[in-house]
Amino acid sequence: MNDTKNIVIIGGGFAGTTLAQALERRVREPYRVILVSQESYTTFNPMLAEVVGASIFPEQVIAPIRQMIDKTRFIMATVTGIDLEHRIVHGSTLAGPADIPYEHLIFAFGTRANLALVPGMEQHALPLKLVGDAMFIRNRVLQRVAQIELETDPALRRRLGHFIVIGGGFSGVEVAGELADFLKSALRYYPRVSREELQVSILQDGERLLPELPECLGRSAAASMSKRGIAVRLKSRAAKVDGGGVTLNDGEYIDGATVICTIGTRPNPLVAALGLPTQRGKLETEADMRVAGMQNLWAVGDCALIRNAVDGQFAPPTAQFAVAEAEQLARNLSAVILGRDTQPFWHTAKGQMATTGHMKGVAQVYGLRLSGLPAWLLWRAFYLMRMPTLGRKLRIFVEWTWSMFFSTDITHLRFTRTSEADDPAHAVPLTAGAGLRRRIH
Ligand SMILES: Cc1cc2nc3c(=O)[nH]c(=O)nc-3n(C[C@H](O)[C@H](O)[C@H](O)COP(=O)(O)OP(=O)(O)OC[C@H]3O[C@@H](n4cnc5c(N)ncnc54)[C@H](O)[C@@H]3O)c2cc1C
Repeated sequence: MNDTKNIVIIGGGFAGTTLAQALERRVREPYRVILVSQESYTTFNPMLAEVVGASIFPEQVIAPIRQMIDKTRFIMATVTGIDLEHRIVHGSTLAGPADIPYEHLIFAFGTRANLALVPGMEQHALPLKLVGDAMFIRNRVLQRVAQIELETDPALRRRLGHFIVIGGGFSGVEVAGELADFLKSALRYYPRVSREELQVSILQDGERLLPELPECLGRSAAASMSKRGIAVRLKSRAAKVDGGGVTLNDGEYIDGATVICTIGTRPNPLVAALGLPTQRGKLETEADMRVAGMQNLWAVGDCALIRNAVDGQFAPPTAQFAVAEAEQLARNLSAVILGRDTQPFWHTAKGQMATTGHMKGVAQVYGLRLSGLPAWLLWRAFYLMRMPTLGRKLRIFVEWTWSMFFSTDITHLRFTRTSEADDPAHAVPLTAGAGLRRRIH
C-alpha cells in the first residue's frame, strides 16, 4: 500500500469530475486517483438560472460526485493549504484535519464571485454562483411580489417590482430571461399585482449581450428578451449599488429594490496561498496544462490560464472548455506515467449555447444556428447527458417534461425548524420598504 502513488485532484466541478472519470479508465496500480472537493456534489452552473426561475428544483442542478466516479477515492474536504516541498495536500474534513500525499496534483478548484467590483454590490446585490444563491434569489423574488400585493404606495410598488440584473454574459442573460418568464407565469396567483408593475432590466457595459458567443447569437438573445418586455440596456455600466437601485457611470439612477449580480470573478483564495505563477488571477500553465515551471503540478478549468493551440487564444471560462481540458489532461497524465510525450491543449469548440428564458435559447452547433425551443432542447439534452446514472437522468427528464406543461412552482420555501417556529427572529423577514403597520382591505 505504501508504494501507492496518488494523483490528487482538487475540485469536483466540471473539470475535476471529468478528469477523474477519464483517469479511471487509463491509470493502473500503483497509481490511484483521489478527488478532493468541499461539496459532495457537482453544480451544473449553467442551470442555476432555472432554479431562480423555478423551472427546476435545486436537486436537479447538482449531481452527487460519488455517483459520477467509480474507482476514484472521493474525499469531501476543503483544501486549506499545500506543502509543495513535501507534496502533501492539507484539508479540513468532517473527521478533522487531513493530510493527503500526492505524486501528481491537479488544481481544478474554479473561481469565486467578486462582489468588490462595484461599490455597494457586496452589501446590496445578490450574487449567483452557488445553488444556495439561486434558492435565495428565488425566495427573494417571491417575497417582493408578495410584498407588492400589500403595499399601497405606487412608487414603492414599482421599486419592489423592478429586478435589475448586472451583467449580460451567460449567467446574466440566463437569469434575466428566466426571471421575466417566472414573473409572468406567477402573476396569476397575485391578483393585486399588475403586469406593468413588474419589470426585469439587464445592464451590460459592452455593446452586445453574450460576448462569449458569436455576435449573431448575442443579437438574437437581445431581440428575444426585448420582445418579452425585458429592458436590455447596453453600454450601461453599474457604478454603484445601494438599497434602492443602481447608479450608472453616466450618473443615471435606476430605481429597483432587487439587484442580482452576475459579473466579476476573483481567484480562489488557494491561488494566492500557493505562491505559484499567475496571470489575470489564474494559474499560468504551459502548453500541456502543467503549472508554469513545475513538473508534477497541473491546472484545468476556470482556475487555469490555458492557451488553445487551435487559435493561440486563451481558452474561455466555460463548461465545454473545462471538460475538454480535463479530457486532454487525462491523456497527458497517462503519457507522463508511461514515459511518453505530452500534447499541447487543443480544442475546436463544437458549438455554443445559452438559454434566454423558459423553453427559449440560442445556439450555434457545427455551424448551424438555432434559436427558441430547438436551441433550448439541445441545451437541456447536453446537460442531461452529463448527469450521472440512468435513474437520475430519467427522473430529471420526467420532471423537466412535467414543468414544460404545468404551471410554475411559486412555493417560497423557508427553512424553519421546529425549535425556531415560535421565535420572532424567524418570522416572515422584512424586505425593502417594509415596517409600517397597515390595514388590509
Ligand atoms: C451562474 C453561472 C452560469 C453559467 N452558465 C454557463 C453556460 O451557460 N455555459 C457555459 O459553458 N458555462 C457557464 N458557466 C461557467 C461554467 O460553469 C464554468 O466555466 C465551469 O463550471 C468551470 O468548471 P471548473 O471545474 O473549473 O470550476 P467549478 O465548476 O467552479 O468547480 C470548482 C470546484 O472546486 C471546489 N473547490 C473550490 N475551492 C475548494 C477548496 N479549497 N477545497 C476543495 N474544493 C474546492 C468547488 O466546491 C467546486 O466543486 C456559468 C457559470 C455560472 C456561475
